[in-house]
Amino acid sequence: MQPALHIRLPVLALSAFLCATAAPQVGAEGPAPLSSGPQPGVENNFGFPLAFDPSKMDTSLDPRQDFARYAAGRWLDVATIPGDSPYISGIVLMTKRVERQVNDLLADAASRSRSAAKGTPLQQVGDAYAGGMDLEHLGKLGAAPLMPEWDRIAKIDGAKSLASALARLELITNMPVVIGASVGTDLEDPARYSVVVADGDLPLPALEHYLAPELAPVREAYLNVIADSFALAGVPAAEAKLRAAKVLETETRIAGKKLTPVQKRDVRAAVTRMPYTELKAALPHTDLDTLFTALGLPTSGDVLVADIRAIRERDAMLGEYPLEDTKAYLQWEALRLTSAYLTPKFVDVQADLTRALTGQTDVPKRELVVAHAISGGLGHALGQLYVARYFPAQSRKDAEEVVGNVRAQFRKRLEQNEWLSASTRAYAIEKLDKMNIVVGYPEKWIDTSSVDIRRDDYFGNMLRLNEFASRRALERLGQPVSEDAFADTKHTLPTVVNAAYSPDRNGIEIPAAFLQPPFYDKAADAAVNYCTMGAVIGHELTHGFDSQGRLYDAVGNVRNWWTQEDAKRFTAETAKLAKQADAYEILPGLKLNGALEVTENLADVGGISFGYAALEAHLRENPAENKPIGGFTPAQRCFLAWGQLWASKANEGAMRQTLPTDGHPPGEYRMAAPAQHEQGFYGAFGIKAGDRMWLAPSDRVKIW
Ligand SMILES: [Zn+2]
Repeated sequence: MQPALHIRLPVLALSAFLCATAAPQVGAEGPAPLSSGPQPGVENNFGFPLAFDPSKMDTSLDPRQDFARYAAGRWLDVATIPGDSPYISGIVLMTKRVERQVNDLLADAASRSRSAAKGTPLQQVGDAYAGGMDLEHLGKLGAAPLMPEWDRIAKIDGAKSLASALARLELITNMPVVIGASVGTDLEDPARYSVVVADGDLPLPALEHYLAPELAPVREAYLNVIADSFALAGVPAAEAKLRAAKVLETETRIAGKKLTPVQKRDVRAAVTRMPYTELKAALPHTDLDTLFTALGLPTSGDVLVADIRAIRERDAMLGEYPLEDTKAYLQWEALRLTSAYLTPKFVDVQADLTRALTGQTDVPKRELVVAHAISGGLGHALGQLYVARYFPAQSRKDAEEVVGNVRAQFRKRLEQNEWLSASTRAYAIEKLDKMNIVVGYPEKWIDTSSVDIRRDDYFGNMLRLNEFASRRALERLGQPVSEDAFADTKHTLPTVVNAAYSPDRNGIEIPAAFLQPPFYDKAADAAVNYCTMGAVIGHELTHGFDSQGRLYDAVGNVRNWWTQEDAKRFTAETAKLAKQADAYEILPGLKLNGALEVTENLADVGGISFGYAALEAHLRENPAENKPIGGFTPAQRCFLAWGQLWASKANEGAMRQTLPTDGHPPGEYRMAAPAQHEQGFYGAFGIKAGDRMWLAPSDRVKIW
């Protein structure tokens, strides 16, 4: 699990299409020759290679009018969305391949772990996986492993025992439950750790799911999940229904008070620093002393409070609701946060909800559910096994070289920048130079060897791993700051298909699993690699200077290093990106949300622009490579590879669900819109005023 209470600082990740319950293990690997005839099915990318390939293009079209379909029209014609995913895209396919690699590893580890030394990655990963896959044993156990936790909750008789229960729940789930506290780097001084107080997360993915009238079907499906889960855990059906209604009422009330994703972006508004005593006085119904003491935290000094309004509401509800209701709610929290470690029946009852949320019709395969849980608790043990088998040293070297070249282009742009004041420009260069970019895997792995992993105790294993992670985070208070690399389970584990910039450490992590086609292809020419992997690196670099990233300094402090004039100019320029996206009709009657997507769109513009610039520099140094391949110039192949990289289809329901909250624009938009800000794009395809792909020079952003 990731350090859950670490302030929800934005990790700005590249991909929108990664999802915890993605996709079964089918072979997306390797190009299937077209000569054998396009074979349907996601298994072989519908008959196309995963890597860039002109065969995916629809050359009967005019790139000046419809670049996206020109770049990938033949693929778009035949690609279908698999039942287990709301999307199909190169990233989905790549994710499926990585899932298959991971599952091969897990199955192999499980077959060899009995004889491995206790505490080694092989023993821990193999035995944990075997335990999760032993459906017969899990089925016999039912909800029994959870019952000791429920009994503890049932015995709550007042504020003190309630606070102890909250601490216990936080430790075993590594999540704040109702109100929790952990330790994270300080917002204004990342050189030290601070106590961070946060309230529990809500299970439905967006606040709208609780609040928007038109999303009532999601809530209906969710009510059934709660009631069915309670019933599976032994609560009589009528009582289970009553409890479900109460839970939804509680969560809806909290949803009405929580900060929206856009509000959370303003870290200064989202996080409040206050003396512990002041927080304690503000929460009269919470025994904060008991909670903090149980977590080993001091009951003095300052604390950082994330989303104070939601926390106050939580506290008010503890005072208002009968204790029996609170206990039923806590039992729900315990159940939902651990149900993945019980019999798969608890996952099965979520099928209708998943369908209502994402349009996915297939229940995720058991192997994937278990692999996901193991990535959470044993991500680095698994990462070691993965790197040893799948990540050649050459990939790391190649990526580091591209990183260096793309960074050099960005630096050059900053040096020549004409609109920034001298002081802002100088600091921007310093920030770029200090940016720590790491490829593949961490220098130092998290050592979980002390955690007791037993082949016959899946539930216990996962709770012990959660407790290990929570305590490890709590114990950092007062220690020198040393943040784990490649440790964000959602974004940066070596087995995650993604790349991410973290503003609070001014660093970029590019996981091992990411360096495969279509992002990186060791067989491809420079044009393809610079405008796929190189552009992704440019994308992440740009995040350090986008509307969020620019609020952090070179060492990750939240500090304004921009003059007022520079900030004004920056905002005025990014408004062009919002305007461009706002005008884009993605579905009949549905336009993109330019304000929400502006940081990602700016990063895409920076990405393709630096990728292209680095390619040009490469060709100047290697003029022999500056020649057409397959009838396309390097510049053309650059933009075509970028377009193919983002080619995707989403089902309409999923699109309507995710658009209001996802900061990433849909792939369809990313295929062409960012390139429209790059002069080289116009030259490569002869796009002129009057063409559909023409964006007036006054509407193009000129930031970097
Ligand atoms: Zn991004």
